Formats: sequence, structure tokens, C-alpha cells
Amino acid sequence: MTTIRQQDLIQSVADALQFISYYHPVDYIQALGAAYEAEESPAAKDAIAQILTNSRMCAEGHRPICQDTGIVVAFVRVGMDVRWEGATLSLTEMINEGVRLAYLDPDNRLRASVVADPAGTRKNTKDNTPAVVHFEIVPGNTVDVRIAAKGGGSENKAKFVMLNPSDSIVDWVLKTVPTMGAGWCPPGMLGIGIGGSAEKAMLLAKEALMEPIDMQALVRRGPANSTEELRIELYEKVNALGIGAQGLGGLSTVLDVKILDYPTHAASKPVAMIPNCAATRHAHFTLDGSGAAHLEPPDLAQWPAVHWQPSAAAKRVNLDTLTREEASTWQPGDTLLLSGRMLTGRDAAHKRIADYFARGEKLPDGVDFRNRAIYYVGPVDPVRDEVVGPAGPTTSTRMDMFTQMMLEHHGLLVMIGKAERGPAAIEAIRKHGAVYLMAVGGAAYLVSKAIRASRVVAFADLGMEAIYEFDVRDMPVTVAVDARGKSVHHTAPKEWQARIGKIPVTIG
Ligand code: SF4
Repeated sequence: MTTIRQQDLIQSVADALQFISYYHPVDYIQALGAAYEAEESPAAKDAIAQILTNSRMCAEGHRPICQDTGIVVAFVRVGMDVRWEGATLSLTEMINEGVRLAYLDPDNRLRASVVADPAGTRKNTKDNTPAVVHFEIVPGNTVDVRIAAKGGGSENKAKFVMLNPSDSIVDWVLKTVPTMGAGWCPPGMLGIGIGGSAEKAMLLAKEALMEPIDMQALVRRGPANSTEELRIELYEKVNALGIGAQGLGGLSTVLDVKILDYPTHAASKPVAMIPNCAATRHAHFTLDGSGAAHLEPPDLAQWPAVHWQPSAAAKRVNLDTLTREEASTWQPGDTLLLSGRMLTGRDAAHKRIADYFARGEKLPDGVDFRNRAIYYVGPVDPVRDEVVGPAGPTTSTRMDMFTQMMLEHHGLLVMIGKAERGPAAIEAIRKHGAVYLMAVGGAAYLVSKAIRASRVVAFADLGMEAIYEFDVRDMPVTVAVDARGKSVHHTAPKEWQARIGKIPVTIG
């Protein structure tokens, strides 16, 4: 019988969450380094360089890899020969206490992203609790914890299907991955759960993402069973879709495909697919009664020697003097370095602006979007002498329903976010001669270094979703939709799919 102290679990969870907020798993970073070396698409290579450089900066500075520091998911195996000393909390409450400690740590405060009453008031719980916890009671005398901080952008792209027993899983995956767009911040990995029941398949897919990346080793040694064959086939075919880093077209969309399966009903073939993004964050520790777990910091010599610098071809843009005429000269794929002032706003701020508009009310003082840029971001709070914490882009498609209003009634000229835009937003951009720029998701700390001043101008009660004004210097972005409505996310993946030449390109 092993005795585990409540405080040891709480402290281990808190330490692990701090650890994964700034250290990428070494297997991910090395696989991404190999993808960087192999990448032939200049735009995708630049995006990977930003992610790798951001990763090293975060590891050195102990600041979050991404502004979305995730919702905590834990898989806990509790040995039957474990007893708890002085436990006053349930196991879930202990884990939540660890989450609270980690996310409120004054040295590296993480963003509280969890909202209660999700179908109603969606009120932020302020400390990122509660975690999503899965338990298993197993033989043994240890407590084994695998813990992750899952970003919303990738979690939102989770898919599930009940296939017929004879349907092809490969066909479903290849049909489904392009519909996920780039909001899951590739290159990442796919977790696939096959079998069981509907909820079991989803759990298997999530659990599969806790495993280390080993695709290159698997390809070298060759598959030993049908699951490994399927992993390799999916890895090769998904990459042949040409989606590439950040959807910019290129050779690497996934670094690995992980599969877990389980027996199922003879009439069923449930399949779940959950992507993991550029902010892949998970850790594994075991409590054996000897105290809190210790996670050994990685050796940064293992990080690829990639140090992103802006391309010499990048155009410098002054947002304070930008005109519609100047913006209309930009082409999809152009890289820009933005300087000057921009406003921010994401889901809750847009909803509130729409409410003001519906009531026919003027926006609060200082909120004037005419001929200005908006950045879709919810930054991490600053620590020490920072102007702002990590501040990367959020998924722009969630703002599509507000785009027509923002362009027509508020005179907005430039939008900055991540991933593609939907057809209605692109049509509004074309109609109003606006432009949409994308920053790299998963390079939040790097991007935040371009922000020289920050102040809240409205909706302070929304916390990280308030409207800020940022003053930026040389913030790197790529033109994703130009003033004529041409989208790099439509053209580039098709171009790279054709170049790779393993899957026919569908026109449309
Ligand atoms: S890398 Fe992208 S999907 Fe992942 S947490 Fe950051 S913004 Fe979200």
C-alpha cells in the first residue's frame, strides 16, 4: 500500500501545467525541425520558423507558447493499492486546485479561458477551472497522470462519424481534414479513435494525442500491424493534401497520426478525429508516495537552430497613415511588417458591438474603426516589465458573421487573425475593398515582442476579450485575402496538392 499526499498531487499538477505552458515536448519540436528542413513552400517555411523561434523564446523566458493556454485535460490512473493521506478534496478537486495554482502563478500567469454556463452567460471562471478529468482504477500502487492544456482552436475542429462497417476510414479522413481549415494551427498531429461507442471513440482520439511523435521511426522500421499501416497511410495522404503550415500550402500538415482502437458493435464503426496544434502541450508523471513529481527541464540544445528574421522582401506598412488605395495594392501571400496603432477585438467584443448596432447606439468613446485595423486576439496578462503577455491571433472564421457589419457600418479596413475566412466574409471583403491579414498561430510570444504599447479602450469587464489599442512595430503578417477577395487559403493548398501530385486536385 502506497500513501499519497493530497498536496503532492496538487503541486505536481501545478508544476506540470507551468512546465508545459513554456516547454514544447522535445519529440514535437524535433519533428517540426525536420519539417522545417524539408519544407519547400516559402510561406509555410516562414511560418514554421516563427513557431520554432517562438518555442525557444518561451523555453528561455518561461512564458506561454500561445496566448490560448488551453483547457486542462487529465487522464489519471489510480492504483488500487493507493491510500490518500489527509485528503479533504476529491481527486477532481485536487486537480482543479493544481490548475488554479498554475494559472494564477504571478511569475507566469496563464490566460483564464474557461467559461461556466456555456449555453447562457458564459462567465469566465477566472482561474481556468474546472479541468476535464478522466479516471481509471487499475492494479498497482502509483498514481499515473497524463495532463494536457488543449487550445480551443484545435479542439473546435474535433470530428466524429459513425461509418458503416465497410466504409473507408482513409476516405473519411481525407474528405474531412480539408473542411477543418487552418484554425487548428497545423503542423500538428491527428489523434484518431476507432471503435467502442460514440463517446469511447472521442476519448480514444484525445488519449492518442498524449503519445510521443514517432512517425519517422515508424516509417523507417515499417509497420508491424494494420493500425501502424493505417497511421502511415493517413500521414502520407493527409500531407499530400498540400494544406501546409497555417494552411499556407506546403509539404507538412501533420507530423504524426496517432490511433487508438477498441472493440465495437458488429453494426458500428465509430471514428473520432481530434487535431493537436502547434501549441502541443502535454506531460506525464507518476506519484509513488515519495513526494511531488519532478519534471526535468529539456536541454535547449535539442531545439533546432532556427532563428526567424523578417524576410528582406517584406513590405513595411504604417497603419497610422494607411489608405484604402495602398491596401488595395497588396497581393495574397505578400508578407508585411505592420507599425502603428491597431484596435483589438474577438468574440465577445464583436457580439457587444453588434448589440450596440442593433440598438442604434454609438460605440463607446475611443472605439472608432474607420480605416483602421482590428486584431483578433485575447492576450495573456503581462508580467514584470512586459507591455502585454503572449498575444497571437485567434481563429478568424468566428468573426465572419460580424464582418459585413464591421466593414459596412464601422468602416473597418484591415482585419488580422489566423486561418481562412468563409465565403460571406470574403464577399464582404471584396465588396468593401478591405483586406484580411494572417499572423502565425502558435507564435504568440514572438508576436507580442512587436507590441510596444497597450491600453484597454473599451469593454474592460470582458478581461482578455476587451478592446485594446496596441501600438506595434514591425509585426509580421501575411496577406491572406486581398481587396479583390482572392484568398491564399483557397489557392495555395490546391497549388501544393498539385505539386505533390499524389491526390487529384478538385477544382471548385
Ligand atoms: S497554436 Fe493555435 S490552436 Fe493551438 S492554442 Fe494556439 S491559437 Fe489555439
